[in-house]
Amino acid sequence: MSTLDNVLKEINKADNIVLLAHENPDGDAIGSCLAMGLALKKQNKNVEIVMPKYPRAFSNLPGTELIKKEGSTKKYDLAIALDCATVKLLNGWTNYFEDAKSKIVIDHHSTNAMFGDLNYVDYSAPACAQVLYTMFMYYKWEVTQDIGTDLMTGIITDTGGFQYSGTSKETFEIAARLLSVGVNIPKIYKQVFSTCTRSSYELKKLALDRLEFLEDNKVTFTYITKKDEEKVNAETGDYEGIVNEGKNIEGVEVSIFIHEIDNGMKVSLRSNDYVNVSNICLMFGGGGHPKAAGVTMQGKVEDIKEMILREVKRALK
Ligand code: AMP
Ligand code: MN
Ligand code: MN
Repeated sequence: MSTLDNVLKEINKADNIVLLAHENPDGDAIGSCLAMGLALKKQNKNVEIVMPKYPRAFSNLPGTELIKKEGSTKKYDLAIALDCATVKLLNGWTNYFEDAKSKIVIDHHSTNAMFGDLNYVDYSAPACAQVLYTMFMYYKWEVTQDIGTDLMTGIITDTGGFQYSGTSKETFEIAARLLSVGVNIPKIYKQVFSTCTRSSYELKKLALDRLEFLEDNKVTFTYITKKDEEKVNAETGDYEGIVNEGKNIEGVEVSIFIHEIDNGMKVSLRSNDYVNVSNICLMFGGGGHPKAAGVTMQGKVEDIKEMILREVKRALK
């Protein structure tokens, strides 16, 4: 029996299922939870997605009625972690995972810690949503327009709109099949990349104003504090995309972005060609993908900047 068969067996056994994703959820985390939630509903399961905060840009996606700030029970029959590399990243929701009778991890991070009873992790997939699509096909579960919209949101977010290296022939084939069930790709595209609120604009402006070019213009660095967020009345997720601003400048190999969060300083790293930023984040207890990775650290912006920069310099050589 394959892992996928075993996962289905656990799903079939369960009545009450909770879906969880990584803290500060992005489009792949949210899209994957919503798609899985709607698919499980169609299998007549009681499903809850526990996700206390998520960016407003995703509030119109199908299935958001399944999202709860807190779970309605302490002990679910089954917990499924989606798009999440470690149990720690489930943050305040770890207990729903650990207390569940059965635990499943479905993901695409190469640094996944395999923290479930069953782990279905496909490193080659550019988004967790793509892993789910493959899974739904294997189970012969119908991918409706709504489920497809959520999956496409995850794929578009994590591939940067089909531009990052994990984007494969299969990704385009899935996109074509989702188009044929009525998924509106241009609309999702606009939602993910082109809708900018006033506060996210102001926040980006602050970050760009203080963006520094380092190491012969091969590295950019910028940051955002809680104070900045207060100043511009920032909403959840307004910092999304700032890290790409540096990465998109010609000649830049690594973009470093530090962003103050409730439990510390979130470092986001992006690279263009040859630096493996996932390896750098792993050194500090984080992880991710070779060209997009992150880690939460404690300390002052300047100190963290120096620590990260030291490793980035080494990797540039
Ligand atoms: P971010 O910079 O938050 O957009 O993260 C980039 C990628 O790295 C995403 O795929 C994250 O899931 C992953 N990532 C971020 N922070 C961590 C962490 N502390 N541990 C493991 N993976 C992480
Ligand atoms: Mn994610
Ligand atoms: Mn992802």
